[in-house]
Amino acid sequence: MAARPMPYLDELNPAQREAVEQLDGPVLMLAGAGTGKTKALTARIVHLLNTGKARPNEILAVTFTNKAAREMKNRVGNMLGHQIEGMPWLGTFHAICVKLLRRHAEMVGLKSNFTILDTDDQLRLLKQLVQAAGIDDKRWPARQLAHLIDSWKNRALTPETLPAADHGAYNHRGGELYAQYQQRLLELNAVDFGDLLLHVVTIFQKHPDVLAQYQRWFKYVLVDEYQDTNVAQYLWLRLLAGGHKNICCVGDDDQSIYGWRGAEVGNILRFEKDFPGAHVVRLEQNYRSTEHILKAASNVIRGNEGRLGKELWTEAEGGEKVRLIGHWDGEEEARWIGEEIEALQGGTRGMSPVGLDEIAILVRASHQMRAFEDRFLTIGLPYRVIGGPRFYERMEIRDAMAYFRLVVSPDDDLAFERVVNTPKRGLGNVAQQKIQTCARANGVSLVEGARILLEEKGLGGKGAKELALFLDGLERWRRQGMAPVVEVPLDDDAVVDDEATVTATRLQEGKPELSHVELAQVILDESGYTAMWQNDKTPEAPGRLENLKELVKALESFENLQGFLEHVSLIMDNESDDAEQKVSIMTLHAAKGLEFPVVFLPGWEDGLFPSQRSMDETGLKGLEEERRLAYVGITRAEELCTISFAGNRMVFGQWQSQMPSRFIDELPEEHVEVLTPPGLYGGGYGAASARPVASALEERATRADGYNSPGWKRMQARAGQYGTSQPRESKQSAIDLQAVSSFTVGDRVFHQKFGYGVITDIEGDKLNVAFEKAGEKKVVARFVTAPDD
Ligand code: ATP
Ligand code: MG
Repeated sequence: MAARPMPYLDELNPAQREAVEQLDGPVLMLAGAGTGKTKALTARIVHLLNTGKARPNEILAVTFTNKAAREMKNRVGNMLGHQIEGMPWLGTFHAICVKLLRRHAEMVGLKSNFTILDTDDQLRLLKQLVQAAGIDDKRWPARQLAHLIDSWKNRALTPETLPAADHGAYNHRGGELYAQYQQRLLELNAVDFGDLLLHVVTIFQKHPDVLAQYQRWFKYVLVDEYQDTNVAQYLWLRLLAGGHKNICCVGDDDQSIYGWRGAEVGNILRFEKDFPGAHVVRLEQNYRSTEHILKAASNVIRGNEGRLGKELWTEAEGGEKVRLIGHWDGEEEARWIGEEIEALQGGTRGMSPVGLDEIAILVRASHQMRAFEDRFLTIGLPYRVIGGPRFYERMEIRDAMAYFRLVVSPDDDLAFERVVNTPKRGLGNVAQQKIQTCARANGVSLVEGARILLEEKGLGGKGAKELALFLDGLERWRRQGMAPVVEVPLDDDAVVDDEATVTATRLQEGKPELSHVELAQVILDESGYTAMWQNDKTPEAPGRLENLKELVKALESFENLQGFLEHVSLIMDNESDDAEQKVSIMTLHAAKGLEFPVVFLPGWEDGLFPSQRSMDETGLKGLEEERRLAYVGITRAEELCTISFAGNRMVFGQWQSQMPSRFIDELPEEHVEVLTPPGLYGGGYGAASARPVASALEERATRADGYNSPGWKRMQARAGQYGTSQPRESKQSAIDLQAVSSFTVGDRVFHQKFGYGVITDIEGDKLNVAFEKAGEKKVVARFVTAPDD
C-alpha cells in the first residue's frame, strides 16, 4: 500500500515527532506549558488513523473538558484533511464512563437507563439519610458527608474497601452512611458523578473477561493533562492499558492544579514504574508565548520545591514585557481593563487591532467576575463567562436576590417560593401546598396567603412558628428600608404667632432606618441565609459566602434596592448570540490548556491570590499549588500579559487595604514593565496619581516577612520614579497615604448621602465628619470630595 501523505508530521519538531511516531508501547510526554503536548497528542491520533494502526472507534482518548474534546476532534479532522465519521471514545473520563456503564449497568445492580444525579439531588438524598440516622445535621452537615464520599470515590474506595480509619469520619457514622447512600442510589437506579468511574473500575476488577474485551478493543489509549488525574482515573487507565500497554500520557507537573479535588501529581512520577521501559519524551521549545512572558512564568514556578524541573525556550524573542499595574480598588481595576480592551480593539502599543475573541480575563476566585461583568455591561463590551454560571446566575446570588425582591415587592410569588424554605424552616411541600391553596382561595399573593393561613390556624407546629418569624422579618425589613416622611422645621422662616412662637415645618422624605446596603446585609443575616453557608463545611461554601459579600458590595453603586434589582434583570436579559466576538472571563482553573493572544490577570493580592486558605495552611502544599496556578495563568498568554492588583478591596463589608501578591515579588524585573494607573481624581497618567501602585509596592517591600528581594527593591525604586516615595515617618499602607495626603482635619467636604460637613478626625482611610444635617459620622475617604471641586 502506498504511503499516504503525512503533512502533519512536517509541522512537528523532532521531539514531538518522536512522541508521535512511537506508536507502540508506553509513552510519557512530560513538558512545560505551550510546548505542543496537546498538538502532538492530536497528531498521534491522526497518525494512528493514517497509518491504519487503528480505526476511529478503537482509539480511547481522554481530555480534561468537553470543550477540549470537541476541539481535538475538529483538529484531527483538519490534520487528516477530511472530517472523520466520529471518534466515539474521545471525551472526558466522565463522558466515556457513562457509555461504558450503560452497557454493563446490570453488573453493578443498575439498569441501563440509570439517571445521573446532580450535586443538589445528591445532597437532598444525603440529608434524608442523615436525618433518618438521627444525626444532628447542624453539627454534622450533610454537605460534609457529601464531600467525604466524593473524596472516597476519587480514591476509588467503595464501602467495602473503605479503610477502617475512614469509617470513623463524620461522627463515626461515615462508613455506615456511605453504604446506605450507595444502597439508596441503587434502589433509585441512579448514580452520582463519582460513581461513573468507580462503577466501571469495579466492573473491570470483578469481571476480567469484560476488561479483556475492552483491552483488546481499545488498541491505543491517550490521555491529555495527565497531571490532574485522581486515583480512580489512574486505576481505570492502568486497567485498560494493562494488556497491550499502548498508552501515551502527556502532562506537566508544574500545571497540577486539582490537588484539592483529589488529583495526584504522583501519578506522573509513577508512570515509569507502572509501565517499565516507557519512552519518556521531553519538549522544551515553547511555541505559544513571547520571551518576556515565558521568562516571567519560569521565574515564578522556580519558587516551588520538588519539581521535575524543565527549562523552556522560545524563538519569539522580545515582544511586550509582562505589564504590572496597581489600582485603587477592584472597581477601578475593572474600569481600567475595560478601557484597555477598547484601546486594544482599536490597535494600540504598535499592535494591530485585537479581536475580542483573542482576549481573556483569568481570575483566581469566581466572585472577582462580578466587577468585570458589571463594568462590561455598562460600557457595552460583549463578554462570556466560561466554565460556570455568570455571577448573577449563581445559586446563592439568586437566593439572595429573591429575598431582596420579596422585600421590595411582596407580591413576587416566585421569589417567595424560592426562599420560604431556604434555609430550612420546616416548611416542606405540604406546608407550601397549604399556602398556595389559601392564597388562591383568597385571590392574594403567597405572602398574604401565608399570613391568612396563620391567622386561620391552618398550619401548626414548628412550621407555623417559623413561618410567622419569616413573615415578620419581611415586614420589618420593608419598614427598615423605607424612607419615612418627616416634618422638618424651616428655622429661617420662623413664623411668630400671637400666642406663641411656632416653627413652620414642611414635609420631606427622611432617612430610612437602614441604608439599602446595610439592609441587604441585615436581610441575609437575620433570615439565616448567611448562617446556612457558614455552617456548611463543603469546599464550595467559602466561595459562596465571598459571592454574597461581593453582592452586597455591588449595591453600593446604586441608590436603592429597587434600582439594583432593575439593573440585574437587565443583565439577565442580555444573552446575545454566540457567534458574536466576546471577551472571555473565566477562572484560572478553567483556563487550563487554552491560549489567548491577550491575557489579563487581575487580583494578584495576598489573601486572594494566593488564597487566604493556602497562606494559613502549615506547610507549603497549598501555596505551591497556588504558584502552579500563577504559572498556568501567565503561560496562557501569547503576546500580551497584564498582571494587576488593587490597593483596596471590600472584605467582610469593610474596605481593607490589600498587599500585592507575594508572587509579584517573584516576577523577574527585567521582564516586567510597571505601569502607572490613571488618576484617582480624574487626572491622566500624572505623577500624583501613581501613588497607589508605588506606595503599595513599597509597603510590600518593607514588610518584615521576608519579601524583601533585591529585584523587588529595584522594581520599587523604579516605581518610585513615577512620583511617590517621599520619606515617610511611619509605616503606612497605600490607602492611609492617599487619605492623609488629600484631606486634613478642618477641611470642609461633601458626601453624596450626608451632604456638607467638616472633618474632625482622620483614622487611616476613615474620616470623622461633623455633617451639617446628618450629624457626626464616620465615612470612607474616597466617598467624600472637597466642595469646591
Ligand atoms: P499546555 O501545557 O498549556 O496545555 P501544550 O503543551 O499542550 O500546552 P499546545 O497547546 O499543544 O501546547 O501548543 C501550544 C501552541 O504552540 C499552539 O498554538 C500550537 O499550535 C503551537 N505549536 C505546538 N507545536 C508546534 C510546532 N512544532 N510548530 C509550530 N507551532 C507549534
Ligand atoms: Mg495542552
